[in-house]
Amino acid sequence: MSSLDQGLLSADLNGMTAIITGGASGIGLATVERFASLGARVALNHLPDDPTAVEEIERLRTEGLDVIGAPGDVSKAGLAEEMVCTAIAELGRLDILVNNAGTPATQRPIPFHDLDSLDEDRWEKILQTNLMGTFRCAHAAANALRTSNGAIVNVASIAGIGGSASSIAYAASKAGIVNMTRNLAKGLAPMVRVNAVAPGFVLSPWSADWSDEQRRNTIAATWLGRGAAPSEIAEAILFLSAGPKFVNAHTLVIDGGR
Ligand code: NAD
Repeated sequence: MSSLDQGLLSADLNGMTAIITGGASGIGLATVERFASLGARVALNHLPDDPTAVEEIERLRTEGLDVIGAPGDVSKAGLAEEMVCTAIAELGRLDILVNNAGTPATQRPIPFHDLDSLDEDRWEKILQTNLMGTFRCAHAAANALRTSNGAIVNVASIAGIGGSASSIAYAASKAGIVNMTRNLAKGLAPMVRVNAVAPGFVLSPWSADWSDEQRRNTIAATWLGRGAAPSEIAEAILFLSAGPKFVNAHTLVIDGGR
């Protein structure tokens, strides 16, 4: 691994804390590892019935990282807020919230002409998780973040800014996150900065069930000719959390060129 692959940012996060939603896999897990390895105490949020989360938390703790579990379903009103409040109480303070939990609510992409497949249940799952979940966690964390002059980073997608998407509903949920990022930044200013990342194709469990053709086509559309490693998105999340403090209300596209 070259020094470039390991990431260039060397922020000191000792004494700082973070909550990362959907932290048991992919981009979320890479972000937990990156933050904790820089000294932060990190609450790893995961779905309560996700068995891999317990294993990952144990592994990270064995590696000497200060990671605690924060089980909770962000798509459920009340439970998301409870998860955030419990995590803040355990962490003692909150400096960074990363709203990363998300779902496409489908194994296969739903073509935009297939309106019949976008039933109420699918819309509900996508909006409740991706959009409402992000708001709920930001709302519950707002006071603690105001106190610490903290930061929020939301995980959007190029799907939210006109890029390809697994469904109209998914694209709308991510467009909502881009919009909400600006408005939360305005609403929580000047104490809390709010930014977002908009990844393109990332090599995570997200695309594990994709067909070879879907994978090939997506990579062919990416000028760098590959998918991003989750750690590359984590690096950008770190930049927006702990980097230049005048960056605010911004959505950073990380798609390798499309
Ligand atoms: P992933 O499937 O590994 O991560 C998603 C995580 O969110 C999982 O751990 C999952 O259990 C968790 N999660 C789902 N619903 C939840 C809920 N209600 N409450 C708590 N946790 C929940 O895939 P990933 O690629 O790491 O995705 C992370 C984020 O990145 C998502 O928001 C996704 O929309 C976004 N994204 C991914 C890609 C990509 O190509 N992989 C591209 C653009 C954006």
